[in-house]
Amino acid sequence: MPSYNCKKCPGYCCSYHIIPVKKSDLKRLAKHFGISFAEAEKKFVTKGDPKDGGEYKIRRKTDEHFGKICRFFDTETRKCSVYEARMYICRAYPTGRCGYYDFLKNERETQGDDEMVASTWNI
Ligand code: SF4
Ligand code: SF4
Repeated sequence: MPSYNCKKCPGYCCSYHIIPVKKSDLKRLAKHFGISFAEAEKKFVTKGDPKDGGEYKIRRKTDEHFGKICRFFDTETRKCSVYEARMYICRAYPTGRCGYYDFLKNERETQGDDEMVASTWNI
């Protein structure tokens, strides 16, 4: 049983500066949207460093809580909009425990506010 609950989280992990995308991810995303690989490459990613885990990195968009977030993150519902087609890295993380969720839970308990979005900007 995981010790975190993504449904109660504003999506810290989707706000990483570099979210790697592999070619196989991009193929899956292109298929999901019914567009060509070249179109997906242009719309969804920028060139990445394979050392980060993928040939590409995801494009990001503005977010009220984190400044920037993955372009596929739905900022209204605070959920992934491409869950079935999400990248390998999103499937692999987290394993068992999520440090962000521990932090969020602790902050919410301390503040007595179940809805607060604790900022990570100054830590
Ligand atoms: S930061 Fe952790 S709890 Fe929040 S969405 Fe990501 S994996 Fe889920
Ligand atoms: S694809 Fe979905 S789960 Fe992965 S970083 Fe983007 S919004 Fe988050």
